[in-house]
Amino acid sequence: MLLLFPPVAKPCEPPAGVAYLAAALQENNIECCVSDANIQGFHYLIRQNLTATDSWSARALKNRDAILADLQDPGLYTNEDRYHQRVYDLNKLLSLAVDTTRFKVTMSDYTDRQLSPLRSRDLIKSADTCRFNPFFSFFEDQLKPVISQWDSPWVGISLCYLNQALVSFALAGWIRKNFPDKKIVMGGGLVSSWMSRPDFNHPFSGLIDHMIAGEGEIPLLDLLGKPGTTKRHYVPDFEFADKAGYISPARVLPFRTTIGCYWRKCRFCPEKAETHAYSTQRASRVLADTLALAHRFQPDTMHFIDDAMTPAFLRALARTGPRVPFTWYGFVRFEKDLADLTFCRQLKRSGCLMLKLGLESGDQAVLDRMNKGTRLDLVSRILENLHHVGIFTYVYLLFGTQFEDRSSAHTTLAFTRAHAPYIDYLNLAVFNLPRFSEETKDLETREFYQGDLSLYLNFVHPAGWDRKQVKQFLDKTFKNSWPSDPGFEKIRPFFPPTMPCFSIRTGRKNQITSTGSDNKLKKTSNRDEPMTAEILSTGDEVLLGDLVDTNSAFLCDRLKQMGIRVSQITVKGDDVAAVCETVMAISRRAKICLATGGLGPTRDDITAQACAEALEESLILNSAALASMKTYFDRRGFELTPDNEKQAWLPDSAQVLENKYGTAPGFSFQLNQCWFFCMPGVPSEMKQMMDACVAPRIQAIQGKPTRLLIRRFTVFGLHESRVGTLLTGFEDLFPGIRLGFRASFPVIEVKLVRDGDEAGNEAETFLDRAGQWVARQLGSKVVSMTGLSLEAEVGQCLARKGQTLAVAESCTGGLIAHLITQVPGSSDYFLLSAVTYANSAKIKVLGVNPQTLDTCGAVHENTALEMAVGARQVAGSDWAVSTTGIAGPGGGPTLKQVGTVCIGLAGPGGLALAKKFEFKFDDREKNKKIFAAMALELLRRHLTGEISA
Ligand code: SF4
Repeated sequence: MLLLFPPVAKPCEPPAGVAYLAAALQENNIECCVSDANIQGFHYLIRQNLTATDSWSARALKNRDAILADLQDPGLYTNEDRYHQRVYDLNKLLSLAVDTTRFKVTMSDYTDRQLSPLRSRDLIKSADTCRFNPFFSFFEDQLKPVISQWDSPWVGISLCYLNQALVSFALAGWIRKNFPDKKIVMGGGLVSSWMSRPDFNHPFSGLIDHMIAGEGEIPLLDLLGKPGTTKRHYVPDFEFADKAGYISPARVLPFRTTIGCYWRKCRFCPEKAETHAYSTQRASRVLADTLALAHRFQPDTMHFIDDAMTPAFLRALARTGPRVPFTWYGFVRFEKDLADLTFCRQLKRSGCLMLKLGLESGDQAVLDRMNKGTRLDLVSRILENLHHVGIFTYVYLLFGTQFEDRSSAHTTLAFTRAHAPYIDYLNLAVFNLPRFSEETKDLETREFYQGDLSLYLNFVHPAGWDRKQVKQFLDKTFKNSWPSDPGFEKIRPFFPPTMPCFSIRTGRKNQITSTGSDNKLKKTSNRDEPMTAEILSTGDEVLLGDLVDTNSAFLCDRLKQMGIRVSQITVKGDDVAAVCETVMAISRRAKICLATGGLGPTRDDITAQACAEALEESLILNSAALASMKTYFDRRGFELTPDNEKQAWLPDSAQVLENKYGTAPGFSFQLNQCWFFCMPGVPSEMKQMMDACVAPRIQAIQGKPTRLLIRRFTVFGLHESRVGTLLTGFEDLFPGIRLGFRASFPVIEVKLVRDGDEAGNEAETFLDRAGQWVARQLGSKVVSMTGLSLEAEVGQCLARKGQTLAVAESCTGGLIAHLITQVPGSSDYFLLSAVTYANSAKIKVLGVNPQTLDTCGAVHENTALEMAVGARQVAGSDWAVSTTGIAGPGGGPTLKQVGTVCIGLAGPGGLALAKKFEFKFDDREKNKKIFAAMALELLRRHLTGEISA
């Protein structure tokens, strides 16, 4: 007999079912050949003559051999980023081999947009139209010779998983057409489930000659002329798997020590309704079989695929200890043996890598109602023990059963969080009600998946805790509880190298909000690790030096205010593959990524495309983004062009961030553990978006109140280091308040930040006290107690007094006037600016006495004073300020020191004065800045009365 295991199933280990059948047939002298068409088909697809569709796939194609070799190399499994990249590469290759408008084929998934595996008529159609199946060429090129050579009239197809169903039927249809004399027998886990339906009426007769439910060994032997056999336990034969090229860093072999589950009482589990009797053998016998198997096939790791390994077999392994010649992992129940630390140590010594444990709920009442037979105090001990001895724990949780309500789900969340240090992997699943279980009798049920072969139902939850609410709980509450808890950031980012690697789901969205059985949440036990963020700046113009990336500095500062450390800033050019790769890498390192640039309408704006590729999603025309753009254009009377419309094409799962000051909408999405916020590169647009949309979202992710209490002080006349020294001891005096400095020459901003909370008033008072302390320490160097610039403070003083100002500038070249007019409302008080660079201008415009210039020179207090008095007179203003000095870098005509400035001031009541200052900068720009600031500061002090005439 020829036994076929069809695609698509995980390609990291050989199938167990056909190996057991092969052993049974051979033991009964029936010739048998096994073909793992799953792994063969997988290699066939990626080895075809493929054509690249983008730069990423071109690179993947070029490196085909290296990608496969890497995934079989244990070294890859020490670098999570590279591992994910290789999985992505391989899936990319698979996508090149199929018509992606209809099919999606990855290493763990097979989807046909036209046919459903839950409908018998679609399966029959898959058989009838087998030539359209992505594996059709594989059937023709590789299976045809095998089937042709094999004399036996029987071909067996082992259909275990839903992902195999459509291909299995395409294969059956193809066999039927090409080998009409062959008889097809079909069995396997999925077939058994279909046949367990009371209403199953053999819709495939005519195509499939014989279908087998449950264990196949006895019925198959019966069919092949060996009736009356009763033996149920065999040692599987993996001869066929020898050189198959499984995508795994180690040779992993599956082995089943029992048939069925020894507990079989859990009320939510289809196993309870299983009609075939549970069967096991003496533990010593099972161990002997396991060792014989290991001796023959030399696995590195054994994957025990039992529903639950029996305590007796675990004890047998523990007793054998270091003499077990392989590492192993498998599913166990929370049995009391595991509460014994010594026993756990013995298991570890026997090679145990990881135990998978179905906890289902962290609420004892729910566990009892489920009939789980699990005590939570025992669970705590066991998790702690396993962690202690170094056995990884993989914990399954199940939400939305009829035994649970919202409050129980919260209890589970609390239990899980409390045991976080001892859980290495979490799997969150949403309950599906088995269609023909006893439980359906007590529930009002609804159709869930359409199809005559559907195995599950939806139901009206007795406590109103319906599926939608459960998913929302997982999405919002469960998921959002992790980012606020650094304990759930990754520290153990890798699955054990010997674990079949493709149990890591390759689609990387919503790891926490999982609804399927193989979504996982990785966690760590490093509870003190602060949230980290990264910044990604995109654009060739930054790399070419045409543009200075000031955005990153702004974003670092904003994140710092939120108590978030920026661990890395990356700059990438306009290259989709490079940005995609970076996004994927960041998604596994950081919790937050702020990306700027690449959102515009032109071809080189590639951020959305790159993110879509990283998400493995398509770009879709986002209606919210389009509406926001339309509003922006309408308001300005512009027409929205197709080029602009490109900016509204965003990854499928992206959420829009509104841009009030520009055309490009931003967007956010989650990939792995990281939230990405993509903002425009134009600084004014980016800053608005950051403050209005992104910062509140980040704080929500942090689990912190969205209100920040901030006090800002502007300091002039001190070095940053001196400010730091003067404020030494702040943290001890004012715990909970973050102190920050930002130097923006020649002033320094000192910032005090505290999270607002329900006790808001108390927090404000505490912050005020801290502010008063800071003001005392810095004394007269504080030029603004509210963080205003010097020119804004001057403006406020003038406006308050209803007075006016004129400026006469020489060395500052109009900088003072520029600063003053930067302040909105300055037209109320600013009358005149005279840039009198030449002596002749000083004389002509300001009325400076030529003799003063002759005797004292241009850079002199007397000249400055006459300039100020002249400006005040010409403008008719209340105040006038003047500057004349040497900005450098060379000395002036009088060979005065570079950095010398004379500042004149004229004001009400005949005030007229001038002062000389000497600064030590050789830099022209710095000198101009500090001269202007000094002039403004002198004016401010007189305006406020801090200095009088
Ligand atoms: S222990 Fe697991 S397999 Fe056994 S009945 Fe419970 S849920 Fe089902």
